[in-house]
Amino acid sequence: MRDPMGWRQQAACRGIDPEVFFPDGEEPAHGAKAICTGCPVRQPCLEWALSTRERQGVWGGCDERDRRRLLRQTRRSA
Ligand code: SF4
Repeated sequence: MRDPMGWRQQAACRGIDPEVFFPDGEEPAHGAKAICTGCPVRQPCLEWALSTRERQGVWGGCDERDRRRLLRQTRRSA
């Protein structure tokens, strides 16, 4: 069976402290977003986070606020 999260094998964040991607409270996530910028699996990562309504952390270069905005835009254009 195909691993729906197989893209993680190529993730640029592998081995990096997860706290970078899950900053406390309102702490900016610039470090995580910078890592995502060069990640070869940014798109599937973001799609996974959107499809699962992941509420926390940075995925695919987007933090919680970015993902909420993307989901709102998607609903409006549907
Ligand atoms: S896009 Fe960011 S969070 Fe997603 S796998 Fe790549 S580095 Fe990790």
